[in-house]
Amino acid sequence: QDKPGVAVVLHDITELRRVEQIREDFVANVSHELRTPLTAIRGSVDALVEENISPAQQRFLDIIARNTLRMERLVSDLLRLARLDAGQERLQLVPCSTQSLFKSLACELTTNLQERHQQLQWNIDQGADVVVADPVKLHDIFRNLIENATHYSPDNSTISLRAAMKRSVDEIVLSVSDRGNGIPEPDLSRIFERFYRVEQLRSDNTRGTGLGLAIVKHLVGLHGGEVSAMNRPDGGAIFEVTFSDRNGNLKDGAIVGNS
Ligand code: ADP
Repeated sequence: QDKPGVAVVLHDITELRRVEQIREDFVANVSHELRTPLTAIRGSVDALVEENISPAQQRFLDIIARNTLRMERLVSDLLRLARLDAGQERLQLVPCSTQSLFKSLACELTTNLQERHQQLQWNIDQGADVVVADPVKLHDIFRNLIENATHYSPDNSTISLRAAMKRSVDEIVLSVSDRGNGIPEPDLSRIFERFYRVEQLRSDNTRGTGLGLAIVKHLVGLHGGEVSAMNRPDGGAIFEVTFSDRNGNLKDGAIVGNS
């Protein structure tokens, strides 16, 4: 006590890391193994639908088909997360036009939007017309967020996309906002967790896997960006994805491989 000193505490986390690795491998293997039987089930259901069957049999087949599709989505999302956990997805950074991104998503999601009589509108601020990102991953991020917006907001509502510059010229913020019920305050910080879903929406959401936002968070993180969720003062949710534009010097078309 009378002499100054330093205490260093070292924890050996070898075992922890090993167990983590086993868990990640397990998820990847199970997901992979589940794919084959699911494809076989779907194929058989499709074949039976073409047979002459009674309305009751048709009802059961519909249930099997719906749940097979749901399982396939789960398996595919779990496999994607396993790949991301294992660092197997590489970034191909290129300058991406925000206008083309929004346009192609509007086109791709026309059916979803028409089914709900919803409109998709967008606004691109000056200086936010290009973001340096991996185009495929950028597309996946916003497809996920817009699909959620269509799903969690009412018929006849408008979904707004925006590209803006933030604080300094170094950040580009792309956002998706909707006119739904928003997200209860206590759930805001948890919705990016795997399988976390807002309780009151659970029962009427048999479509989702509860993994979409976890994937979004991972993909944004790969870019060194951030994603956050908040509620609009006048109702509805806003998801903001912030990309640092530090790779702005790539804007003349260079392609960069990055791990
Ligand atoms: P899911 O497949 O259930 O949509 P996600 O990971 O995409 O899973 O989202 C997690 C949860 O966050 C959803 O189940 C829902 O409760 C909530 N959520 C996501 N987007 C919105 C939104 N635009 N409005 C309200 N709640 C949302």
